[in-house]
Amino acid sequence: MSETAAAVLKRIFGYDAFRPGQDAIIEAVCQGRDALVLMPTGGGKSLCYQIPALLRPGTGLVISPLIALMQDQVAALRANGVAAAGLNSSLPAAEQNRIEQQLRDGALDLLYVAPERLAQERTLALLAQCELALIAIDEAHCVSQWGHDFRPEYMQLGALADAFPGVPRMALTATADEPTRREIIERLHLEAAEHYVGGFDRPNIRYAIAERAQGREQILRFIQREHPGEAGIVYCLSRRGVEETAAWLMARGLTALPYHAGLPSEDRHRHQHRFLHEDGVIVVATIAFGMGIDKPDVRFVAHLDLPGSIESYYQETGRAGRDGLAADAFMLYGLNDVVRRRQMLESGESSEARKRVERHKLDTMLGLCETTTCRRQSLLKYFGQDMPQPCGNCDNCQEPPLTYDGSTDAQKALSAVYRTGQRFGVGHLIDLLRGNATDKIGKFGHADLKTFGCGNETSIAAWRGIYRQLVAGGLLAVDIDGYGGLRLTEAAMPVLRGQRELQLRRPTETKKTRTRTGRRVVEAGDQDLFDALRAWRLDTAQEAGVPPYVVFHDATLAALAAQRPADLDALADVPGIGASKLERYGAEVLQVINAALAPS
Ligand code: ADP
Ligand code: ZN
Repeated sequence: MSETAAAVLKRIFGYDAFRPGQDAIIEAVCQGRDALVLMPTGGGKSLCYQIPALLRPGTGLVISPLIALMQDQVAALRANGVAAAGLNSSLPAAEQNRIEQQLRDGALDLLYVAPERLAQERTLALLAQCELALIAIDEAHCVSQWGHDFRPEYMQLGALADAFPGVPRMALTATADEPTRREIIERLHLEAAEHYVGGFDRPNIRYAIAERAQGREQILRFIQREHPGEAGIVYCLSRRGVEETAAWLMARGLTALPYHAGLPSEDRHRHQHRFLHEDGVIVVATIAFGMGIDKPDVRFVAHLDLPGSIESYYQETGRAGRDGLAADAFMLYGLNDVVRRRQMLESGESSEARKRVERHKLDTMLGLCETTTCRRQSLLKYFGQDMPQPCGNCDNCQEPPLTYDGSTDAQKALSAVYRTGQRFGVGHLIDLLRGNATDKIGKFGHADLKTFGCGNETSIAAWRGIYRQLVAGGLLAVDIDGYGGLRLTEAAMPVLRGQRELQLRRPTETKKTRTRTGRRVVEAGDQDLFDALRAWRLDTAQEAGVPPYVVFHDATLAALAAQRPADLDALADVPGIGASKLERYGAEVLQVINAALAPS
């Protein structure tokens, strides 16, 4: 092995330093050992198999579940001068034959294959004729029946251990919980693999979770203020929510495209294509969108509804800022989410054991929403990692929430539930507390209760916030039959009896909006040059039929705008410009910079 891993990193990818963990993993695989790699989304897993594939003799085989991802990675590798190809069912036969021939000739550094493809005898026979540098199984959690991305084809990948003895195998995933990890090892026969658990922190992502008042308006303001003209994803729980939100944002001048499993596949394909190939497109989606989307310059991920677990939340928010530049994870949630999620869970078909796991996951997610301390510390703790200091880059760090002794409010709220027979929903309970003599109050004689009107000094929004916190904290349980009736749990008793003090969050509605203009991807003085480079990049990418980030990442354009290299030597020092891109684009880029800086 003549060239070092660090040299390949610079020559091919144009990067100066490895991210934490990458070098150790690359070394282990280069020496022929198996590896289990757990790293957050955007942590830099791909290089962990791409570089050993380049360094070891033979072709690196990558199993990847999504065709779009495969095409992207192949395009990006080719742009860097790497001989890469993908085999999947969407290819015309002639193209397929050509790739197979290249493979037999040993002319490929990397071959991406879909798992169903690999299950075919024919593919295995083909691979048996080749020298393999390694086998990398991406999104390895798809083998787990406990996970939400289970794919039956993954079950057969365990057979690769016997079929290709001596070839180092890697499993890579961003899902780190212990049961999933055990399942991956067992099913993929990775008992001997070394484990690499990368740092789960994504320091460039700012986490913020706010109460939902008028959700769409809040999202719109957030996008207009923090991310005008930038690409992002807005997640909604339901298909209808997706369509309505996309249309609503479109009507307000944003390029917002819907994406969910119920749309015709041409529409889905077109919207995803635009998201990848144009600058500044927003996709409004259910979770059906995103896995395998490798777009590095997603500047924000917003949630209009509460995700069901911290794993989902972290995976979805992890799609922001893969390029390492500042990005936002902004989530809204309210009482309705809590009620809806609890109902979905309890009325689902799952076994009691499974429900217990899901209940726990939802509770932890709610804990994250309600926490008054650093969000990142909570998130990392969930993934088993300690962060000694608060992060300074989340809403709670930047604007510590106000809390107060809410014991009396809680007692009023709980006793309203108790005195009405533990079957009414929040709307009615708040009418009762605020002394609002509706027909329903009259019909049930609730105006005669002691609690009637005892909370008329507190706003409706504030009462909703209090109920939300009581449900989230497990003091109230939600009726699962669909009417959202609340009843007391054991945990409510000490509070009702005045034996336990309860700290509550003050509603956020009174807080002023943030004055900070947000961290910028480029400094204000470099913006014009950055825009000129972006325009050139879009033309270049469209001519080549690849996404703009395959030409250069935003991070590279931002560095170009800041450093303003004057010649090819200086250009070669800019991160993200390897030998192949220097040769292909160097002269043009210098021209764009000169033209933009020339006095007009
Ligand atoms: P993952 O597969 O873990 O989600 P990727 O492999 O797609 O993450 O990497 C995320 C981004 O980080 C990519 O755009 C990649 O180019 C970039 N990246 C990876 N390693 C490095 C590095 N050592 N230096 C700079 N950028 C890197
Ligand atoms: Zn923080």
